[in-house]
Amino acid sequence: LDPSNENFSPEELDVEKKLRPLSFDDFTGQDQVLENLQIFVQAANLRTEALDHTLFHGPPGLGKTTLAHILANELNVGIKVTSGPVLDKPGDLAGLLTNLDERDVLFIDEIHRLSPIVEEYLYSAMEDYKIDIMIETGPNARTVQINLNPFTLVGATTRSGLLTSPMRARFGIQSRLQYYKTDLLTTIIQRSASILDVPISMEAAIEIAGRSRGTPRIANALLRRVRDFAQIKGNGTIDIKIAKFALEALNVDAHGLDEMDNKILSTIIDKFKGGPVGITTIATAVSESPETIEEVYEPFLIQQGFIMRTPRGREVTDQAYKHLGRIKGNIQGG
Ligand code: ADP
Repeated sequence: LDPSNENFSPEELDVEKKLRPLSFDDFTGQDQVLENLQIFVQAANLRTEALDHTLFHGPPGLGKTTLAHILANELNVGIKVTSGPVLDKPGDLAGLLTNLDERDVLFIDEIHRLSPIVEEYLYSAMEDYKIDIMIETGPNARTVQINLNPFTLVGATTRSGLLTSPMRARFGIQSRLQYYKTDLLTTIIQRSASILDVPISMEAAIEIAGRSRGTPRIANALLRRVRDFAQIKGNGTIDIKIAKFALEALNVDAHGLDEMDNKILSTIIDKFKGGPVGITTIATAVSESPETIEEVYEPFLIQQGFIMRTPRGREVTDQAYKHLGRIKGNIQGG
């Protein structure tokens, strides 16, 4: 299961929208982030000002897009949604910006993938709510400055390390989202099950939660697949028996680790004797960028106790050997 939603079908995206919490009260977890945001939103509402530009970073599927929509709801304003790779010309951005009403939210997903020209263009918009627009062409070409309504840019990125420092500096509010503990994911699964109108036992919810890689998007996706099994192979209710059967049939890792997680662990064990080994070396061995390993995969593997950071590099733990069914000291493939 891919925690980014890039491979979701339109129907699945529809269900995902339906399961999306709409208010602070609806949102489970990330307590510290939420407490702060609530204060900033209340203050902005009190002064009828636009909320400061806000940056969410963290691995995919943890709620960045959800929070952007919640901010707009709680500010009682509109939201326009786009993403870094989609905005490839300053003209596209100008069109969005000039259509924002006062205090509206402009959400840019994958903001680390903006082209340098568009990014530069965004700076003056963020700073003084002004942009330069080129009118006419040829000898009459000239730029005019346009005033924008005060707005809030909400940016999301999985790779904060790739954000330029001038860009980062323009966000007054910056929050990092963390992986969810099993009890929180259990709550999220129960909430989603009730929205989808499928009965689920506590035990089954915990089982699914434990295999969701700390990620609400994966928890919801697994819930929907298990629901299919319950309806076709069972009596429609998700109990522990059908949940285990379905997760087994779906080949879901006992800890919810995905292919890349397992590849990283087995590479460190098989090629580097369990470590310590540097992040760049690991990255080359698994054909991923060091930033992605460090920001997207490693945090979960560390949180779950599969990898340790040492001054000499990354080392796998005994738990990683156990998880992969390897015996320490045995080197596979020479
Ligand atoms: P991101 O933008 O970080 O990739 P999303 O905001 O799109 O993640 O979240 C993915 C899905 O997970 C959403 O559709 C939502 O249903 C669910 N979700 C995320 N965070 C929460 C949460 N804290 N509580 C309940 N559901 C959540």
